Amino acid sequence: MTICQSCGINIIDEEDFGTESNGSLSEMYCLYCYKNGEFKFKGSFNDFVEKQIDIAIRIIGLSPSEAEDTTKAKLLKLFRWQDESLEDDDDSDFFEEED
Ligand SMILES: [Zn+2]
Repeated sequence: MTICQSCGINIIDEEDFGTESNGSLSEMYCLYCYKNGEFKFKGSFNDFVEKQIDIAIRIIGLSPSEAEDTTKAKLLKLFRWQDESLEDDDDSDFFEEED
């Protein structure tokens, strides 16, 4: 099983993988995020987070604050957003050391 490195969903079946520009399957991204070698969503990280939070509230049924916390924490671990997490100083809470 692979976790999509853009949105964090579990990719279980081969047909759920995105496709590269040459038609081969992506090894990292799902078909909802990635098609023909391009990301479908081209906005900023914060826009993507908002979109995913909306999905978490409407489809999974989380409360808005729960959805925001879990969505951001999840996305910041993914390959596509690694640069974003370093630049995003609003989320310093995520980097507090645990004793
Ligand atoms: Zn995805």
